[in-house]
Amino acid sequence: MLTALNQNKKSFVAPLLSRSELDEIRKEDLTCPSCRQPVLLKAGKIKIPHFAHLAKSTCKFGSKESIEHLEGKLILFKWLQAQEIPARLEYFIPSIQQRIDILVKWNNQFYGLEYQCSKIPYEQLRERSEGMMSLGITPIWIFGMKFLNRKRNSHLGLTSLLQTSIIHFPEVASSRIFFLNSLMKDFQIFYPKARLNHTAFGGFIQKPITNLSFPELFSLENNHSVNYSFTWLNWKKSLRTKPPFAMTELEYNFMKYLYFRQLHPQNLPSIIGLPSINSWHYLQPDYIWQSAFIIDYYTKIPVGESFTYQEAYRSVAKYFQEKLTTVYPSPSIHPLYSYLLLLEELCYVKSTNRSTFKKCKQVLFPKTLDQALLFDQNLMYLLNKLRS
Ligand SMILES: [Zn+2]
Repeated sequence: MLTALNQNKKSFVAPLLSRSELDEIRKEDLTCPSCRQPVLLKAGKIKIPHFAHLAKSTCKFGSKESIEHLEGKLILFKWLQAQEIPARLEYFIPSIQQRIDILVKWNNQFYGLEYQCSKIPYEQLRERSEGMMSLGITPIWIFGMKFLNRKRNSHLGLTSLLQTSIIHFPEVASSRIFFLNSLMKDFQIFYPKARLNHTAFGGFIQKPITNLSFPELFSLENNHSVNYSFTWLNWKKSLRTKPPFAMTELEYNFMKYLYFRQLHPQNLPSIIGLPSINSWHYLQPDYIWQSAFIIDYYTKIPVGESFTYQEAYRSVAKYFQEKLTTVYPSPSIHPLYSYLLLLEELCYVKSTNRSTFKKCKQVLFPKTLDQALLFDQNLMYLLNKLRS
Protein backbone atom coordinates (compact mmCIF):
# COMPACT_ATOMS: atom_id res chain seq x y z
CA MET A 1 0.00 0.00 0.00
CA LEU A 2 0.97 3.60 -0.54
CA THR A 3 -0.41 5.17 2.62
CA ALA A 4 0.29 4.78 6.34
CA LEU A 5 -0.40 6.67 9.56
CA ASN A 6 2.13 7.74 12.17
CA GLN A 7 1.50 7.72 15.95
CA ASN A 8 -0.26 11.12 15.64
CA LYS A 9 -2.64 9.71 12.99
CA LYS A 10 -0.98 11.82 10.34
CA SER A 11 -1.31 10.20 6.93
CA PHE A 12 1.63 9.78 4.54
CA VAL A 13 1.76 8.82 0.87
CA ALA A 14 5.17 7.15 0.59
CA PRO A 15 5.99 7.87 -3.08
CA LEU A 16 5.17 11.56 -2.64
CA LEU A 17 7.88 11.99 0.02
CA SER A 18 11.48 13.06 -0.55
CA ARG A 19 14.42 10.79 0.38
CA SER A 20 15.01 12.74 3.62
CA GLU A 21 11.33 12.72 4.55
CA LEU A 22 11.30 8.96 4.00
CA ASP A 23 14.32 8.59 6.31
CA GLU A 24 12.47 10.65 8.93
CA ILE A 25 9.22 8.66 8.94
CA ARG A 26 11.14 5.37 8.94
CA LYS A 27 11.89 6.14 12.61
CA GLU A 28 8.20 6.51 13.50
CA ASP A 29 5.60 3.95 14.56
CA LEU A 30 3.69 3.45 11.35
CA THR A 31 0.35 1.71 11.08
CA CYS A 32 -2.02 0.53 8.36
CA PRO A 33 -4.96 2.98 7.99
CA SER A 34 -7.35 0.04 7.52
CA CYS A 35 -6.43 -2.41 10.32
CA ARG A 36 -4.17 -0.22 12.53
CA GLN A 37 -1.55 -2.98 12.67
CA PRO A 38 2.12 -1.97 12.35
CA VAL A 39 3.60 -1.60 8.87
CA LEU A 40 7.10 -1.10 7.54
CA LEU A 41 8.33 1.40 5.01
CA LYS A 42 9.78 -0.25 1.91
CA ALA A 43 11.88 2.12 -0.13
CA GLY A 44 14.05 -0.07 -2.28
CA LYS A 45 15.19 0.16 -5.88
CA ILE A 46 12.61 -1.96 -7.71
CA LYS A 47 9.20 -0.87 -6.51
CA ILE A 48 8.13 2.67 -5.74
CA PRO A 49 8.26 3.50 -1.99
CA HIS A 50 5.37 1.79 -0.22
CA PHE A 51 4.35 0.24 3.08
CA ALA A 52 4.04 -3.43 3.94
CA HIS A 53 2.44 -5.36 6.77
CA LEU A 54 4.56 -7.60 8.96
CA ALA A 55 4.60 -11.25 7.96
CA LYS A 56 2.28 -12.25 10.81
CA SER A 57 -0.36 -9.66 9.89
CA THR A 58 -4.00 -10.70 9.59
CA CYS A 59 -5.07 -7.63 7.62
CA LYS A 60 -7.11 -8.53 4.56
CA PHE A 61 -5.35 -5.77 2.65
CA GLY A 62 -1.98 -7.12 3.75
CA SER A 63 -1.23 -9.23 0.71
CA LYS A 64 1.49 -8.12 -1.66
CA GLU A 65 0.45 -5.69 -4.35
CA SER A 66 2.01 -5.76 -7.79
CA ILE A 67 4.15 -2.90 -9.06
CA GLU A 68 1.52 -2.33 -11.72
CA HIS A 69 -1.19 -1.87 -9.08
CA LEU A 70 0.89 0.43 -6.85
CA GLU A 71 2.01 2.58 -9.74
CA GLY A 72 -1.44 2.72 -11.32
CA LYS A 73 -3.00 3.96 -8.08
CA LEU A 74 -0.35 6.62 -7.76
CA ILE A 75 -0.77 7.75 -11.38
CA LEU A 76 -4.52 8.07 -10.92
CA PHE A 77 -4.13 9.91 -7.63
CA LYS A 78 -1.63 12.42 -9.05
CA TRP A 79 -3.81 12.83 -12.13
CA LEU A 80 -6.80 13.83 -9.95
CA GLN A 81 -4.65 16.12 -7.79
CA ALA A 82 -3.40 17.92 -10.90
CA GLN A 83 -7.03 18.62 -11.81
CA GLU A 84 -7.71 19.83 -8.26
CA ILE A 85 -10.40 17.21 -7.81
CA PRO A 86 -10.73 16.10 -4.16
CA ALA A 87 -9.38 12.55 -3.90
CA ARG A 88 -8.37 10.21 -1.06
CA LEU A 89 -5.93 7.42 -1.69
CA GLU A 90 -6.63 3.94 -0.24
CA TYR A 91 -9.72 5.09 1.58
CA PHE A 92 -10.87 2.58 4.17
CA ILE A 93 -14.57 2.42 5.07
CA PRO A 94 -15.12 0.40 8.26
CA SER A 95 -18.88 -0.09 7.78
CA ILE A 96 -18.37 -2.08 4.59
CA GLN A 97 -14.84 -3.28 5.45
CA GLN A 98 -13.58 -2.11 2.08
CA ARG A 99 -10.55 -0.14 1.08
CA ILE A 100 -11.28 1.86 -2.04
CA ASP A 101 -8.20 2.56 -4.17
CA ILE A 102 -9.21 6.18 -4.65
CA LEU A 103 -12.32 7.93 -3.39
CA VAL A 104 -13.17 10.90 -5.58
CA LYS A 105 -15.62 13.73 -5.02
CA TRP A 106 -16.73 15.41 -8.17
CA ASN A 107 -19.87 17.41 -8.92
CA ASN A 108 -21.27 16.62 -5.46
CA GLN A 109 -21.07 12.92 -6.16
CA PHE A 110 -18.68 10.29 -4.78
CA TYR A 111 -16.88 7.86 -7.06
CA GLY A 112 -14.85 4.86 -6.02
CA LEU A 113 -12.00 4.28 -8.44
CA GLU A 114 -10.63 0.75 -8.41
CA TYR A 115 -7.57 -0.16 -10.43
CA GLN A 116 -7.96 -3.89 -10.98
CA CYS A 117 -4.81 -5.67 -12.11
CA SER A 118 -5.35 -9.18 -10.81
CA LYS A 119 -7.98 -11.68 -11.78
CA ILE A 120 -10.78 -12.04 -9.25
CA PRO A 121 -14.14 -13.82 -9.54
CA TYR A 122 -16.80 -11.53 -10.96
CA GLU A 123 -18.98 -12.19 -7.90
CA GLN A 124 -16.30 -10.58 -5.74
CA LEU A 125 -16.17 -7.53 -7.96
CA ARG A 126 -19.95 -7.27 -7.85
CA GLU A 127 -19.92 -7.48 -4.05
CA ARG A 128 -17.38 -4.67 -3.80
CA SER A 129 -19.43 -2.57 -6.21
CA GLU A 130 -22.58 -3.23 -4.20
CA GLY A 131 -20.75 -2.25 -1.00
CA MET A 132 -19.88 1.11 -2.51
CA MET A 133 -23.34 1.65 -3.96
CA SER A 134 -24.91 0.99 -0.53
CA LEU A 135 -23.14 4.19 0.58
CA GLY A 136 -24.01 6.16 -2.54
CA ILE A 137 -20.53 5.79 -4.07
CA THR A 138 -20.48 5.04 -7.79
CA PRO A 139 -17.89 2.38 -8.56
CA ILE A 140 -15.56 2.97 -11.50
CA TRP A 141 -13.44 -0.03 -12.44
CA ILE A 142 -10.27 0.60 -14.36
CA PHE A 143 -8.52 -2.51 -15.59
CA GLY A 144 -4.86 -3.34 -15.97
CA MET A 145 -3.34 -4.41 -19.26
CA LYS A 146 -3.75 -8.14 -18.79
CA PHE A 147 -7.50 -7.65 -19.20
CA LEU A 148 -7.19 -5.82 -22.48
CA ASN A 149 -7.72 -8.59 -24.97
CA ARG A 150 -8.00 -6.53 -28.11
CA LYS A 151 -8.71 -8.52 -31.24
CA ARG A 152 -8.74 -6.81 -34.61
CA ASN A 153 -9.32 -3.11 -34.39
CA SER A 154 -12.81 -3.08 -33.01
CA HIS A 155 -13.12 -6.35 -31.06
CA LEU A 156 -12.62 -6.81 -27.34
CA GLY A 157 -12.50 -10.23 -25.69
CA LEU A 158 -15.06 -10.17 -22.89
CA THR A 159 -14.81 -12.01 -19.60
CA SER A 160 -17.57 -12.11 -17.00
CA LEU A 161 -15.41 -9.77 -14.90
CA LEU A 162 -15.32 -7.19 -17.68
CA GLN A 163 -19.02 -7.67 -18.45
CA THR A 164 -19.83 -6.99 -14.80
CA SER A 165 -18.05 -3.66 -14.89
CA ILE A 166 -19.23 -2.18 -18.18
CA ILE A 167 -20.34 1.19 -16.97
CA HIS A 168 -23.70 2.56 -17.74
CA PHE A 169 -25.39 5.24 -15.73
CA PRO A 170 -27.65 8.15 -16.55
CA GLU A 171 -24.80 10.67 -16.76
CA VAL A 172 -23.13 8.82 -19.65
CA ALA A 173 -24.62 8.56 -23.10
CA SER A 174 -23.11 5.21 -24.01
CA SER A 175 -21.76 2.19 -22.17
CA ARG A 176 -18.00 2.02 -21.68
CA ILE A 177 -15.16 0.18 -20.03
CA PHE A 178 -11.80 1.58 -18.87
CA PHE A 179 -8.22 0.33 -19.08
CA LEU A 180 -5.06 1.96 -17.79
CA ASN A 181 -1.56 1.14 -18.91
CA SER A 182 0.45 2.23 -15.88
CA LEU A 183 3.74 1.83 -17.74
CA MET A 184 2.80 4.03 -20.70
CA LYS A 185 0.41 6.19 -18.64
CA ASP A 186 -2.27 5.66 -21.26
CA PHE A 187 -6.00 5.39 -20.88
CA GLN A 188 -8.00 3.21 -23.21
CA ILE A 189 -11.76 3.49 -23.26
CA PHE A 190 -13.76 0.83 -25.05
CA TYR A 191 -17.34 1.51 -26.17
CA PRO A 192 -19.20 -1.75 -26.74
CA LYS A 193 -21.78 -1.44 -29.52
CA ALA A 194 -22.79 -5.06 -29.91
CA ARG A 195 -21.89 -8.38 -28.36
CA LEU A 196 -21.44 -11.88 -29.67
CA ASN A 197 -20.90 -14.26 -26.74
CA HIS A 198 -17.43 -13.41 -25.43
CA THR A 199 -16.60 -10.79 -27.99
CA ALA A 200 -17.76 -7.20 -27.91
CA PHE A 201 -17.69 -5.07 -31.05
CA GLY A 202 -17.16 -1.38 -30.61
CA GLY A 203 -14.69 1.45 -30.70
CA PHE A 204 -11.56 2.33 -28.74
CA ILE A 205 -10.24 5.71 -27.68
CA GLN A 206 -6.62 5.75 -26.54
CA LYS A 207 -5.15 8.83 -24.87
CA PRO A 208 -2.23 9.70 -22.63
CA ILE A 209 -3.67 10.27 -19.16
CA THR A 210 -2.44 13.88 -19.20
CA ASN A 211 -4.63 14.58 -22.26
CA LEU A 212 -7.76 13.43 -20.50
CA SER A 213 -9.73 14.93 -17.62
CA PHE A 214 -11.76 13.02 -15.07
CA PRO A 215 -15.13 14.32 -16.39
CA GLU A 216 -14.06 13.27 -19.89
CA LEU A 217 -14.13 9.64 -18.76
CA PHE A 218 -17.89 10.03 -18.91
CA SER A 219 -18.37 12.63 -21.60
CA LEU A 220 -16.05 11.40 -24.37
CA GLU A 221 -17.95 9.60 -27.10
CA ASN A 222 -16.88 7.31 -29.88
CA ASN A 223 -19.03 7.02 -32.96
CA HIS A 224 -17.12 4.46 -34.97
CA SER A 225 -19.37 2.12 -36.89
CA VAL A 226 -18.33 -1.48 -36.61
CA ASN A 227 -18.34 -4.22 -39.18
CA TYR A 228 -18.52 -7.66 -37.61
CA SER A 229 -19.42 -9.74 -40.71
CA PHE A 230 -16.19 -11.75 -40.80
CA THR A 231 -16.25 -12.66 -37.13
CA TRP A 232 -19.96 -13.36 -37.15
CA LEU A 233 -19.84 -15.64 -40.21
CA ASN A 234 -17.02 -17.67 -38.66
CA TRP A 235 -18.86 -17.99 -35.40
CA LYS A 236 -22.15 -18.93 -37.07
CA LYS A 237 -20.41 -21.58 -39.15
CA SER A 238 -18.83 -23.10 -36.06
CA LEU A 239 -22.20 -23.07 -34.26
CA ARG A 240 -23.71 -24.95 -37.20
CA THR A 241 -20.91 -27.48 -37.51
CA LYS A 242 -19.41 -27.87 -34.05
CA PRO A 243 -18.71 -31.52 -33.17
CA PRO A 244 -20.55 -32.66 -30.00
CA PHE A 245 -17.35 -33.54 -28.09
CA ALA A 246 -16.14 -29.93 -28.23
CA MET A 247 -19.24 -28.46 -26.59
CA THR A 248 -19.56 -26.58 -23.35
CA GLU A 249 -22.41 -27.46 -21.01
CA LEU A 250 -24.34 -24.47 -22.21
CA GLU A 251 -23.96 -25.50 -25.85
CA TYR A 252 -24.92 -29.06 -24.99
CA ASN A 253 -28.12 -27.88 -23.30
CA PHE A 254 -28.87 -25.77 -26.34
CA MET A 255 -28.44 -28.85 -28.57
CA LYS A 256 -30.91 -30.70 -26.36
CA TYR A 257 -33.34 -27.79 -26.70
CA LEU A 258 -33.07 -28.05 -30.51
CA TYR A 259 -33.29 -31.84 -30.46
CA PHE A 260 -36.66 -31.74 -28.67
CA ARG A 261 -37.89 -29.47 -31.46
CA GLN A 262 -36.43 -31.78 -34.10
CA LEU A 263 -33.94 -29.18 -35.18
CA HIS A 264 -30.19 -29.12 -35.74
CA PRO A 265 -28.00 -25.97 -35.61
CA GLN A 266 -27.56 -26.46 -39.34
CA ASN A 267 -31.24 -25.60 -39.82
CA LEU A 268 -31.27 -22.50 -37.64
CA PRO A 269 -32.49 -19.38 -39.43
CA SER A 270 -29.84 -16.80 -40.21
CA ILE A 271 -31.46 -14.15 -38.05
CA ILE A 272 -30.66 -16.18 -34.94
CA GLY A 273 -27.50 -15.11 -33.15
CA LEU A 274 -27.35 -11.54 -34.40
CA PRO A 275 -25.02 -9.45 -32.26
CA SER A 276 -27.29 -7.57 -29.93
CA ILE A 277 -26.97 -4.32 -28.10
CA ASN A 278 -27.06 -3.87 -24.34
CA SER A 279 -26.95 -7.57 -23.52
CA TRP A 280 -23.57 -7.49 -21.75
CA HIS A 281 -25.04 -7.46 -18.28
CA TYR A 282 -26.76 -10.79 -18.87
CA LEU A 283 -25.22 -14.21 -18.51
CA GLN A 284 -27.14 -15.95 -21.31
CA PRO A 285 -25.67 -15.70 -24.80
CA ASP A 286 -27.90 -13.92 -27.28
CA TYR A 287 -28.30 -16.82 -29.71
CA ILE A 288 -30.07 -18.83 -27.02
CA TRP A 289 -32.81 -16.33 -26.19
CA GLN A 290 -33.06 -15.33 -29.84
CA SER A 291 -33.65 -19.02 -30.72
CA ALA A 292 -36.37 -19.27 -28.11
CA PHE A 293 -37.97 -16.08 -29.38
CA ILE A 294 -37.90 -17.08 -33.06
CA ILE A 295 -38.67 -20.80 -32.72
CA ASP A 296 -41.18 -20.80 -29.85
CA TYR A 297 -42.84 -17.46 -30.39
CA TYR A 298 -42.31 -15.69 -33.69
CA THR A 299 -42.88 -18.67 -36.02
CA LYS A 300 -46.22 -19.37 -34.29
CA ILE A 301 -47.67 -15.97 -35.18
CA PRO A 302 -49.42 -15.72 -38.55
CA VAL A 303 -47.98 -13.23 -41.05
CA GLY A 304 -49.88 -9.94 -40.83
CA GLU A 305 -50.77 -10.35 -37.17
CA SER A 306 -49.55 -8.02 -34.44
CA PHE A 307 -47.98 -8.69 -31.08
CA THR A 308 -46.96 -6.42 -28.23
CA TYR A 309 -43.45 -6.06 -26.90
CA GLN A 310 -44.72 -7.29 -23.51
CA GLU A 311 -45.99 -10.53 -25.05
CA ALA A 312 -42.73 -11.06 -26.86
CA TYR A 313 -40.77 -10.36 -23.69
CA ARG A 314 -42.78 -12.90 -21.69
CA SER A 315 -41.73 -15.61 -24.15
CA VAL A 316 -38.05 -15.12 -23.27
CA ALA A 317 -38.20 -13.51 -19.81
CA LYS A 318 -36.57 -16.49 -18.10
CA TYR A 319 -33.35 -15.96 -20.08
CA PHE A 320 -32.94 -12.50 -18.61
CA GLN A 321 -33.28 -13.45 -14.96
CA GLU A 322 -29.60 -13.92 -14.29
CA LYS A 323 -27.73 -10.63 -14.37
CA LEU A 324 -24.00 -10.21 -13.94
CA THR A 325 -24.36 -6.86 -12.29
CA THR A 326 -27.04 -5.11 -10.35
CA VAL A 327 -24.89 -2.06 -9.76
CA TYR A 328 -25.31 -0.12 -12.95
CA PRO A 329 -28.84 0.46 -14.15
CA SER A 330 -29.68 -1.40 -17.35
CA PRO A 331 -29.59 0.73 -20.48
CA SER A 332 -33.07 1.90 -21.35
CA ILE A 333 -33.24 -0.23 -24.50
CA HIS A 334 -33.60 -3.90 -23.64
CA PRO A 335 -31.65 -6.41 -25.80
CA LEU A 336 -34.92 -7.95 -27.00
CA TYR A 337 -36.25 -4.55 -28.02
CA SER A 338 -33.06 -3.76 -29.91
CA TYR A 339 -33.34 -7.19 -31.59
CA LEU A 340 -36.89 -6.33 -32.71
CA LEU A 341 -35.61 -3.05 -34.14
CA LEU A 342 -32.98 -5.03 -36.04
CA LEU A 343 -35.68 -7.37 -37.35
CA GLU A 344 -37.60 -4.30 -38.46
CA GLU A 345 -34.55 -3.09 -40.38
CA LEU A 346 -34.53 -6.50 -42.08
CA CYS A 347 -38.28 -6.24 -42.82
CA TYR A 348 -39.38 -9.15 -40.62
CA VAL A 349 -41.54 -6.92 -38.46
CA LYS A 350 -43.00 -3.46 -38.66
CA SER A 351 -43.65 -1.41 -35.56
CA THR A 352 -47.13 0.08 -35.50
CA ASN A 353 -46.34 2.06 -32.36
CA ARG A 354 -43.57 1.98 -29.74
CA SER A 355 -44.79 -1.26 -28.17
CA THR A 356 -46.62 -3.12 -30.96
CA PHE A 357 -45.10 -4.97 -33.88
CA LYS A 358 -46.68 -6.57 -36.90
CA LYS A 359 -45.16 -9.75 -38.31
CA CYS A 360 -44.34 -9.15 -41.98
CA LYS A 361 -42.79 -12.36 -43.20
CA GLN A 362 -42.09 -15.96 -42.36
CA VAL A 363 -38.64 -17.09 -41.24
CA LEU A 364 -36.72 -19.45 -43.51
CA PHE A 365 -35.21 -22.57 -41.98
CA PRO A 366 -32.37 -23.73 -44.26
CA LYS A 367 -32.49 -27.38 -45.28
CA THR A 368 -28.80 -28.05 -45.87
CA LEU A 369 -25.53 -26.71 -44.49
CA ASP A 370 -24.63 -25.16 -47.84
CA GLN A 371 -27.94 -23.36 -47.96
CA ALA A 372 -27.53 -22.19 -44.35
CA LEU A 373 -24.07 -20.73 -45.00
CA LEU A 374 -25.38 -18.97 -48.10
CA PHE A 375 -28.32 -17.49 -46.13
CA ASP A 376 -25.88 -16.27 -43.46
CA GLN A 377 -23.70 -14.58 -46.07
CA ASN A 378 -26.69 -12.93 -47.71
CA LEU A 379 -27.88 -11.64 -44.37
CA MET A 380 -24.53 -10.00 -43.57
CA TYR A 381 -24.40 -8.54 -47.09
CA LEU A 382 -27.86 -7.05 -46.61
CA LEU A 383 -27.10 -5.71 -43.16
CA ASN A 384 -23.90 -4.01 -44.34
CA LYS A 385 -25.73 -2.54 -47.32
CA LEU A 386 -28.46 -1.16 -45.08
CA ARG A 387 -25.88 0.46 -42.85
CA SER A 388 -23.49 1.89 -45.38
ZN1 LIG B 1 -3.82 -3.49 7.34
